[in-house]
Amino acid sequence: MYVVDWLHKQALHRPDQTALVDLASGREWTYRQFNERASRVADYLLTRAGLQPGARVAVLAQNSSDYLELLYGCAKAGMVMVCLNWRLAPAELLPILQDAEPALLVYGQPFGATAEALRAQLPGLRARQAVVIGATGGAEQAGARGYEDCLAGACGDAIEMQPRGMDEVWHLLYTSGTTGTPKGVMQTYGMVYFNAVNCMLATGLSRHDVLLNVLPFFHTGGLNLYTNPVLHAGGTVHIMQQFDAGAALELLDSTVTLFLGVPAVYLMLSQHPAFGAARFRAMRHWSAGGSPMAHSLLELYQAKGVTICFGFGMTETGPTVFICDEATARRKTGTIGRPVGSMRTRVVLADGSDAGPGQRGELYIQGPGVTPGYWKLPQASAEAFVDGWLRSGDIAYFDDEGDHYIVDRAKDMYISGAENVYPAEVENVLFQMPQIADAAVIGVADAKWGDVGAAIVVLKAGQPLAPAELQAFCRARLSGYKVPKHVVVLDALPRTPSGKLEKHKLRSQFADLGTQEGTAP
Ligand code: ATP
Repeated sequence: MYVVDWLHKQALHRPDQTALVDLASGREWTYRQFNERASRVADYLLTRAGLQPGARVAVLAQNSSDYLELLYGCAKAGMVMVCLNWRLAPAELLPILQDAEPALLVYGQPFGATAEALRAQLPGLRARQAVVIGATGGAEQAGARGYEDCLAGACGDAIEMQPRGMDEVWHLLYTSGTTGTPKGVMQTYGMVYFNAVNCMLATGLSRHDVLLNVLPFFHTGGLNLYTNPVLHAGGTVHIMQQFDAGAALELLDSTVTLFLGVPAVYLMLSQHPAFGAARFRAMRHWSAGGSPMAHSLLELYQAKGVTICFGFGMTETGPTVFICDEATARRKTGTIGRPVGSMRTRVVLADGSDAGPGQRGELYIQGPGVTPGYWKLPQASAEAFVDGWLRSGDIAYFDDEGDHYIVDRAKDMYISGAENVYPAEVENVLFQMPQIADAAVIGVADAKWGDVGAAIVVLKAGQPLAPAELQAFCRARLSGYKVPKHVVVLDALPRTPSGKLEKHKLRSQFADLGTQEGTAP
């Protein structure tokens, strides 16, 4: 089984269809142009830069059409692109680069100092010229060449990608590290292909779709959902360099038909002054996922006639495992629905047996969208699976109709007086309080109860909230052991670039909270 060069195919079938709209630079490329530029990248990599197929090409850059040309150029050249999180500090990027051992570093101009500091420490990169995206007028930095100059000097004859095996690695995405040290999740051609097919089956996406992508390309949500599926289908991708709620609302109100946001993005859109008047004229499908979403937020969109189809995915699963259909999403707030197309799931109880409806257990995943493992980590890869099923580390259940719900991450659960508490349930209640702008609940050690909850909240401007009021609100809606014993107010919560709460940071910051005087519930 293999995949062929679908970009080349799009250029043959619909050469004049717009493929990419780069909102930051204003550049637009048709499929013919996109294919031709990706071919130039491949020619540059193979002949001018002298890299061998299989070599890694690391990219440290914000979202742009150049980024996608590099990705597809790597496919045509048989190379593995390493998508680096540009928000990381050099000390965090160094171990990733040491792990991936790239032969070439491509970087965006704003990251020049970081890139050069990293190259100085990596002999494999120091030996070669790096490539800079966005260097204008042939401006060359020390030991680096401008991206456009590289393309201009490369051969423009369309290079067609050799058929690639389903298990061949196309790119590496390092996990965001919400659970510890980043690991390079191998993204194969098969994963990307089946993810695209599954997205088409689940959402009906087609060449008529216009996607607005606001998530970073170094994250699976930005690259593989829905950017790559739309490029498989022959649709148009609007690329936003960084999320901007006002600009996003303008586009969502005009030609865009398809959108994916993490809960933090949906929250920021809803808080923008233009939200109220937006009509979302062409919008056909709204997706969300990545972390638990407050039901109050889903309902706020519902009241505006927008049904957000909540889904579930992981870097390790291509990423799509669930996308709820619109009718079910309208009927059942917060469900992720049933597994998409070729993906299979189980909910597994602590004794290894399968859960029945309503029983909470760990979500296990199988299917062609699942990664073969982590780059150069055979042991961690083997440990991620049980009898061929990927362990998600998430607690889930399904109802009588087979619709699934994510309860929380297993590791975020804490035990208070022998009772399991899932913070997402408590956070959902906190988000119903009009004073609360953002909220996280963590378990902190307590001499009497083992663990108790601490609510870390961000308040809306000019809306004070006494801890006792928060606790009374929770007590009216939750069992007593779920009511946070501690309340902390912060200016902002730590989040990853994909909007996920970095609870490990809160847990270490507030580890001693339980030894301090609590706010009596
Ligand atoms: P790391 O693996 O380093 O901890 P990460 O968990 O953020 O980072 P991703 O692959 O980006 O890695 O995210 C996958 C996780 O996101 C899932 O395991 C789950 O915890 C969470 N997630 C995804 N979709 C949902 C959802 N609909 N509801 C709740 N959580 C979700």
